[in-house]
Amino acid sequence: MGLGIGHGLHLGQEIALKISIEQKRGYMLEMQLALSGLKSGEKLEITERCPGCNVELKPIEVLEGFSSDPTDLDTTCPHCGKKFRPKMRAVRFGSRNVEHYQLYCPAQTLHALRSHCKLPPFEIERANAALYRSAILHFGTLKAAMKEARITYRFTEKMDWKVKLAPILGRVPDVMFAKYAGVSPATVGKYRRMLGIRRFTSQEIYE
Ligand SMILES: [Zn+2]
Repeated sequence: MGLGIGHGLHLGQEIALKISIEQKRGYMLEMQLALSGLKSGEKLEITERCPGCNVELKPIEVLEGFSSDPTDLDTTCPHCGKKFRPKMRAVRFGSRNVEHYQLYCPAQTLHALRSHCKLPPFEIERANAALYRSAILHFGTLKAAMKEARITYRFTEKMDWKVKLAPILGRVPDVMFAKYAGVSPATVGKYRRMLGIRRFTSQEIYE
């Protein structure tokens, strides 16, 4: 779409472009994990080794291995085709306690949230900590996730985003940061400029 792949690009350029798009997707997922982890006070990681071929998978490979069936909770290894149920690893800040939470893909998250739409965020977290974390990871806030599922959700999460999400300001586009902060991109941009932090450019990924 407008990238001109196959229209005047040499094979080498096409490969380089493909690598850079994959690298960018991987970087953005790392940042999503960091942002949602800052919200729940944890270091979140997707570190899965395929139970079939024992290859350590990249987080983006785990996420892209899900099928489009929202009730199928397995991902598929891109190397050997083995299906397995992936997890997120969470280490609470200031602790060595490791928790593992089942990882839902966006479609599964929206499907599963339907039965929780009458609950405020903290009760969703208590009822299903894994679903809560996947919702934040993919959609930034529960309100946004519910909106995506076309559910009216009357609760808003209260959070001091300027303090909590500070480490990621300027390391992702303001639009993405705003999703996790639960405010408008303009609000994020204004605050970022006030602090003299440069706007995110893709260059950040390759440095
Ligand atoms: Zn495998």
